Amino acid sequence: MEKLTALVSDFDDTLFFNRSAIVSAAEDLYSIIEREKESDEDYKAMSDLEVTAKEGRIPKGFSKKWKNQLYTFAYAKYNDKLSPNNFLINYLNQRVTQGDKLIILSARGEEFRKQTEGLLNRYGVKYDEVILPENHRLKDEEWKLTEIENLIKKYSHLALFEDKFENIQYIANGLGINENAVEFYLVDNSNLTRII
Ligand SMILES: [Mg+2]
Repeated sequence: MEKLTALVSDFDDTLFFNRSAIVSAAEDLYSIIEREKESDEDYKAMSDLEVTAKEGRIPKGFSKKWKNQLYTFAYAKYNDKLSPNNFLINYLNQRVTQGDKLIILSARGEEFRKQTEGLLNRYGVKYDEVILPENHRLKDEEWKLTEIENLIKKYSHLALFEDKFENIQYIANGLGINENAVEFYLVDNSNLTRII
């Protein structure tokens, strides 16, 4: 039987750079919370957003109350600020031309399917499928692990592309040491590093 490989790529900061969208979203949200602030959680969120506005990353444990609003600003209002990782897009498209399947696996959520597919189409990414969570009950890395377990049943071989080392670690540990069906690549701009 021919070996069928699926390339499984994360979206944010892997295929598309979202830093400037996240920064603009953080600035917008900061001014909203500044007007409405009413709890310790709001003050904590404001100090986290200062970090986000400066460093373009969202601190762990960011307010549940405001998280959805932050991502809605970043992925909907500032969707046009996302820029493509051309190196990775070219690499993956070339492998698709050679017969591999390309699956986009992103925890951003079904609520952003339209924007996500819009960017993929605009920049000519030759994907077969976009998998997004229906809800955010599981942590991002937990949800990704369950989806990868499903994909392993469907394909004989997977190559995973991801910008977060801790996600790779979590998924690799979750699959167990006997799981040789997955290759893991850490993506940092145009650097691809095979981890496992
Ligand atoms: Mg990412």
